[in-house]
Amino acid sequence: MSGPKVGETVERFELEKAWLVDPVSGREGPGEIVVVDGMLDSVNWLEGAEAEGVTADGIVVAPGFIDLHAHFREPGFEDAETVATGCAAAAHGGYTSVVLMPNTSPALDEPGVLERIRSAARASGSPVAVHAYGAVSAGRGGEQLSAMGELADAGVLGFSDDGAPVKTARLLRSALIYAGMLGLPVVEHAEDLELTAGAEAHEGYVASVMGLAGWPTAAEVNAISRDLAVLADALGDEPRARLHITHVSTLAGLDLIRRAKAAELPVTCDVTPHHLAFTDEWIAGSRRWAWEAIDGRGRSRDPWADGALTAGPYDTSLRVNPPLATPADAAACLAALVDGTASAVVTDHAPHTIVDKEVEFGKASNGISGIETALGILLSLVDAGKLTLPAAVRALTTGPAAVVAGWAGAASSAAARPRGLVEGAPADLVVFDRSDRWTVGEATLRSKGKNSPLLGRDLPGRVILTIANGKLAYEDPEA
Ligand SMILES: [Zn+2]
Repeated sequence: MSGPKVGETVERFELEKAWLVDPVSGREGPGEIVVVDGMLDSVNWLEGAEAEGVTADGIVVAPGFIDLHAHFREPGFEDAETVATGCAAAAHGGYTSVVLMPNTSPALDEPGVLERIRSAARASGSPVAVHAYGAVSAGRGGEQLSAMGELADAGVLGFSDDGAPVKTARLLRSALIYAGMLGLPVVEHAEDLELTAGAEAHEGYVASVMGLAGWPTAAEVNAISRDLAVLADALGDEPRARLHITHVSTLAGLDLIRRAKAAELPVTCDVTPHHLAFTDEWIAGSRRWAWEAIDGRGRSRDPWADGALTAGPYDTSLRVNPPLATPADAAACLAALVDGTASAVVTDHAPHTIVDKEVEFGKASNGISGIETALGILLSLVDAGKLTLPAAVRALTTGPAAVVAGWAGAASSAAARPRGLVEGAPADLVVFDRSDRWTVGEATLRSKGKNSPLLGRDLPGRVILTIANGKLAYEDPEA
């Protein structure tokens, strides 16, 4: 394609003989699309001889991805990321909508901060739709509620003190009730801070061998238990109370949520690409995927005995909250995605400066710059036969959209609209090539955050084009 710059309307784009994946209709197969003046002018499903040779292993078209959990660091930490660089990174990852966490400085606890983020998004020229959650507590201090009503009027999609859990059960109860009255959820980072004080890595064999202080599974389980108990109580006062637990990382934590959903509590959750694909043995220097680090009986292999260590130990790009856990926990994240316990994959894109990562492992800032590698990780799961291509696309599109649609006060948001490959709708899509790989590197990542354990690694599924709301968001410079 030649012509539009980022932010300009895509006047004409035609793609012949691609593999279309439409999670709204549930259809996938060979097809062609034509975009005219930013609208999907035609979606033509091919059959018979016309479809010959078109497979799911080549060029794929899917709706633009939605990330329900990202950190763009502005205002306050612009050395790590800005709204502009975050949007560029998102578009490179195939995302056309993002929901930002409010742990900026100042925290997004009143509408003025949201306006600053929105004006940065406008100034960036990127068509990626930028949404945000407001803080649960003023200044994220865990003492008093933020200006929740004003934030809801200004258009936040929910409330979160992410980076930390809502500090007390009492505050969480008030937040669930008040947010529920506004038709919005509390989005919870589930962590028992008492159990994780001083913790460096998931408690277990790898942490023991490496001399890292253990982060027990109970830290997540305790917090989820508290959250579910408080939700059940809050519903008595406010039936619209909604809880979303983000980046769930352990088998035991996911089991609790599975049971709560079976009991019809209004709780949803998500998992991240890194908890699906990486494990604690990566801290020792292993770089095999989580599904390669488990034996037939669901037990962790020993990376030292296997000679699986191909990288140096204590790479701080692997320090993340919650920590990378065992292969069985990663398998549980995948099972939760497949059985619907987890509704979405979110990136928890957490860019950091080199300064914040070039320290001892336990002192490094938590987080992985992940919005550009989520697709490649999910396609690696598809290539390994662990996930179907439509399921991977759903986890990035209709899955997160359905979560937002369940929040009455956010359901009119663009992030909640069903995204299909539908004629007559604004083009909002990603085109990627499964026959082509790209190398994750400091130069190829658009994010300012180069804190990725995948640096130097090839990932499947080069993104060729991202169109957001009819406008060019990303185009592969080599295409
Ligand atoms: Zn978090």
